[in-house]
Amino acid sequence: MKLLKLVCPSCGAKLEVNSNLEKFTCNYCGVTSLLDEESITVKNINSKLSNCINELKEYFDNGNYQKCYDLANKYLIEYPNNKKIKEYIDNSEEYISEIFASNMLKKYEHWKTKSFSLQELGADYNKIKYYRDNYESETIEKAYTILYQLKKGYHNAMIILVIGLLSILFLPFVFTGCTK
Ligand SMILES: [Zn+2]
Repeated sequence: MKLLKLVCPSCGAKLEVNSNLEKFTCNYCGVTSLLDEESITVKNINSKLSNCINELKEYFDNGNYQKCYDLANKYLIEYPNNKKIKEYIDNSEEYISEIFASNMLKKYEHWKTKSFSLQELGADYNKIKYYRDNYESETIEKAYTILYQLKKGYHNAMIILVIGLLSILFLPFVFTGCTK
């Protein structure tokens, strides 16, 4: 028995495979391949899983990160613990978060001249906060700071509004209290 150093034809992971095996399964992407001992070549068994991995690779390489992310999450239900699928989820989300952050910078850059709802701001803030917790990026950090300050500004404005309303409501009582 000897160990062969091979590259998985599906995901490119470096593997060590027992030479007397006919088939082997990559412990990274989970795809099973045939081992041709004579020529020390591997042939991909055209399995459903290898098609899935290929599809993810294609979307990712073409820069369609959202599609890659959505599909990878769908495939993960079918193949839980698959390291390659998880890697695609993580890598595509990293790109998605970066794109989202630069869109947020554009969206809220001139916030004084634009109108947006508090609900919209809240949703954007929660998303950028999630990305900030998971990915380190200058763009995300910048977008987070802007959204955080905007949200805080809204919060303070609401407190002032409530205090204002309360004082208007209680003002008559204060006055009647004084005249008695
Ligand atoms: Zn593999």
